[in-house]
Amino acid sequence: MSYPRFFVNSGHIDGSVITLEGESALHISKSLRMKAGEKIVVCDTEKNEYECVLESFSADTVTARIEDIRRNVSEPLYKVTVYQACPKSDKMDSIVQKAVELGAYGIVAFMSDRCIARYDSKSFEKKCDRWQKIALEAAKQSGRGYVPFVKWLPNIESAVQEMTKNGVAFMCYEDEDTLTLKEFLGTRKDENELSFIIGPEGGFTAKEAEFCRDNGVLTVSLGKRILRTETASGYVLAGLSYEKEL
Ligand code: SAH
Repeated sequence: MSYPRFFVNSGHIDGSVITLEGESALHISKSLRMKAGEKIVVCDTEKNEYECVLESFSADTVTARIEDIRRNVSEPLYKVTVYQACPKSDKMDSIVQKAVELGAYGIVAFMSDRCIARYDSKSFEKKCDRWQKIALEAAKQSGRGYVPFVKWLPNIESAVQEMTKNGVAFMCYEDEDTLTLKEFLGTRKDENELSFIIGPEGGFTAKEAEFCRDNGVLTVSLGKRILRTETASGYVLAGLSYEKEL
């Protein structure tokens, strides 16, 4: 039996009582119309899961009593961050949703040369709020023990700089015909911190691919077919899960 799932910071857990506030409290009382005695699962930020029974309701808080504590078992043991060049319209919504279901640790949106949508910092901030909410809902739905972060960076230079700081980084490049994702991952089996970068609808320019390679980000192929920008990250994340988890 799976109960509705919520995330709190450890600060909201006091002995055997958890206090839920804001949108979580509203969701429990107004949307789900739950009553005292019904059960929820609450996750903290440290991979603990608390099975709780709802106890009391006030105007904007709900308290729940912990009945059982267990470790979350659905989080991947590797951390993979998706760097996604911004697609047009609302495609990023489903990219974020699917990436969370497929185990991403974080999603970073950025602008590249061929992005059709152009966001300034203000519109990026607004979009990120929306994408972060989508990530939260997807984390609840898919049973994650952690809510992946969503953030933005202004350009490919800052994305590549960040990617190369931790673990192994690669670029999914439609014009790469030598190194496949499978070969790349095969030689890096013990690597548990990864990041990869996906181009927009129009793909990456040769200059951008060169910039990546010059900075130690290898270009890899995702196979013989060209995938849409909204398909590519899912392909990589599923491949990683198959390679590392199953
Ligand atoms: N407009 C380009 C395709 C862009 S696809 C063209 O027609 O050539 C969007 C992004 O998805 C690419 O920039 C790349 O990051 C990724 N991608 C799609 N198919 C790929 C493949 N077969 N190999 C590597 N990356 C791929």
